[in-house]
Amino acid sequence: MQAMVLNKLGSPLLWTELPDRQPGPGQIRVQVLACGVCRTDLHVVDGELPGPVLPIIPGHEIVGRIDAVGAGVQGLHLGERVGIPWLGHTCGACAYCRMQRENLCDHPVFTGFTRDGGYATAAIADARFAFPLGEGGSDVSLAPLLCAGLIGWRALRMAGEAKRLGLYGFGAAAHIIAQVARFQGRSVFGFTRAGDIGTQTFARSLGAVWAGGSEDTPPEPLDAAIIFAPVGALVPLALKAVRKGGRVVCAGIHMSDIPGFPYALLWEERELLSVANLTREDGIGFLREAPAMGIVTETTVYALEKANEALADLRGGRFHGAAVLVP
Ligand SMILES: [Zn+2]
Ligand SMILES: [Zn+2]
Repeated sequence: MQAMVLNKLGSPLLWTELPDRQPGPGQIRVQVLACGVCRTDLHVVDGELPGPVLPIIPGHEIVGRIDAVGAGVQGLHLGERVGIPWLGHTCGACAYCRMQRENLCDHPVFTGFTRDGGYATAAIADARFAFPLGEGGSDVSLAPLLCAGLIGWRALRMAGEAKRLGLYGFGAAAHIIAQVARFQGRSVFGFTRAGDIGTQTFARSLGAVWAGGSEDTPPEPLDAAIIFAPVGALVPLALKAVRKGGRVVCAGIHMSDIPGFPYALLWEERELLSVANLTREDGIGFLREAPAMGIVTETTVYALEKANEALADLRGGRFHGAAVLVP
């Protein structure tokens, strides 16, 4: 197999020839068909997340076809197309697993972070954490659903019944969730970097009723806001934009420090919360409902060996929607 490997934090990924791997008990091996590039991959490469296992193959938005099955695997078969997400394994025994909050498991394995991921021609996964994808939709179009879509979906559920929903940071996740929110009859307000007219136009093209800079005041107070951008300074801005009793959901895995702000921004029962990882239930629920929502993902395709270029373009905001690597 070949892979793009991170050997040292902060350094470029290296194209590497590796021996083929065999799935262990309960595992599957897939031939990677496409793998999305997530902002979390940038945090991994930059060393912003605690506990990476190096060397590591990043990538946790994997669309693959099963080409080897380990002992004891149930419910999946050779030749089946599956999705492999960030949550790679949970212990099943800790307090969080037992209270149906496996996203908070004390002993998790994360694809592309503590277990090799999908920036490769092949990947190994725990079969119980892979999602059957069926044959509808192209490999490339489905890849961004596996994290941007799933984490966005969890964040949207956390936002509650909000009719007027603000999305801060209009990248891969927001471009999917805007479509979901619109399908659900919500009004989407898109917030981008100040003056980023291109992304504001993109947000409107996906049905946002309003788009502007993150410092702008929306035309009406929001019921809730989801912050996808890894920028702590957005927290007080979003709190300012939501109505009394409104909710601000931080959907990213990493954020720069949140600056101090007057208590008045939080007062009147505004709520501030974060989303961590996903549960399998999130994945199954979202992937079951996604086809009916008519989600169209905007993707920029890169060859696997161009992964560093894709990451650099993500960092530089040089594409709309999501980047996807294809071996
Ligand atoms: Zn656990
Ligand atoms: Zn991700």
